[in-house]
Amino acid sequence: MSRVRLPSLTPGASSVVGKSESGTDCRWRLDDLLPDRSPMTAMSVSTARLSAATFAGRLVGTASRLSRRGTGASIRGKVMLKIDPSALSKLLAGKRIAVVSGTNGKTTTTHLLAAALRESLGPDSGRLVHNADGANLHHGLTSALSEHPEADIAILESDERVVADVIKLGRPEVLVLLNFSRDQLDRHHEIKSLGRSWRMALAAAGPGGPVVVANADEPLVVWAAKAAEHVIWVDTATTWTQDSSLCPECDANLIRVQPDPASGQDADWYCTGCGLARPKGDYRVESGTIVDRAHHVWDPHLSVPGRFNINNAACALAAAELMGVDAGTALKGMRKVTSPAGRFATAQFGSTTARLLLAKNPAGWAEALPLAQSRTVVLAIDSAAADGRDVSWLWDVEYEQLAGRSVIATGRRAQDLAVRLRYAEVDYRCIPDLAEALANHTKPVDVIATYTPFQRLRRMGRV
Ligand SMILES: [Zn+2]
Repeated sequence: MSRVRLPSLTPGASSVVGKSESGTDCRWRLDDLLPDRSPMTAMSVSTARLSAATFAGRLVGTASRLSRRGTGASIRGKVMLKIDPSALSKLLAGKRIAVVSGTNGKTTTTHLLAAALRESLGPDSGRLVHNADGANLHHGLTSALSEHPEADIAILESDERVVADVIKLGRPEVLVLLNFSRDQLDRHHEIKSLGRSWRMALAAAGPGGPVVVANADEPLVVWAAKAAEHVIWVDTATTWTQDSSLCPECDANLIRVQPDPASGQDADWYCTGCGLARPKGDYRVESGTIVDRAHHVWDPHLSVPGRFNINNAACALAAAELMGVDAGTALKGMRKVTSPAGRFATAQFGSTTARLLLAKNPAGWAEALPLAQSRTVVLAIDSAAADGRDVSWLWDVEYEQLAGRSVIATGRRAQDLAVRLRYAEVDYRCIPDLAEALANHTKPVDVIATYTPFQRLRRMGRV
């Protein structure tokens, strides 16, 4: 078989000169030389580029894993998007998609929703793809989707900054919006701009946009979700109010009413300026149960701890029902979730048994601190990029509730935490090295960590 020699091309030229098969001089139009642009060929080129990107991504990801630099998921997605910038939209195409976002609880909620769908799919659960490791930026989603290209259902956790793109690129049928809280102040700056990006993306999606499952107790979530054509409200009775004192619509003061079981008063909020107010919940969390749209009361019996996880389950349940799973089956699946991406996992560090809790911001700490039951509590703080460089949020966390316990401050910002603990009048020891902080505890300890030390602890404890 003879090799084809291509004529050299001058930039901007519309034709090239060369020899025909019979040896005579000829001039060809460039359009005739370029590949046929019929739709079929364009599709083949597009598919070939995605295949090349997937192959290269897999290669680099495997190399990264073998060199113990991590799971390889992140670098795999980055390489894929470098080779094929359209890889994410191509991989999302043709799938039924549910997306979960919010500052706190999105990894667990996505795991709960994926488990509900898997329970329903039974032996066909291989049809489902899920970014279970929590890699939720463009490259993380691309990486996860490329691992199961045959899947036709995608349950995806999305970073707050990626939600607008996913709405546009993937046209999800369900979008779960959990909450907004200050997180990584150096990267996110102010949370209202994120809420605005959700709102604009939902407005642009119009009637073809996702059905939104939204936390009715979060004013910024409500404001963003109201741009959607269809919203299912979940009344989670969230009591964290520190990140929503002003109305996202008109900047007037928001009035917050705290729940009072004695008088039967539910949590409530409303704006004194424009009338934005808490919508009535289609689903409700009530005394540890979930009340669905048909007023059926479900005892969730989850394997993951905490009141906030019942809120997460209520949102996951609403999403699962929207995707066609009945509540009983959905909850049966959700109960199988024990330690989503290492959260709440119990690990062994030498002779020490430790339960790992993740808290990334004041709202997360408010949820995690009451879960810590051990006499000695280890708190690990870092300020790497993934934690947020700014640790001023330490002063918004009520560490005072640890008074009377023995606390070990660890991680690279242990000293910052130590100052905070001193002002909170909590007994502490400062042991910056993680391994040292966890060594030789005779009784099980609870560890609450920010993102980077949490991931390190997962690797150290193999969970
Ligand atoms: Zn207002």
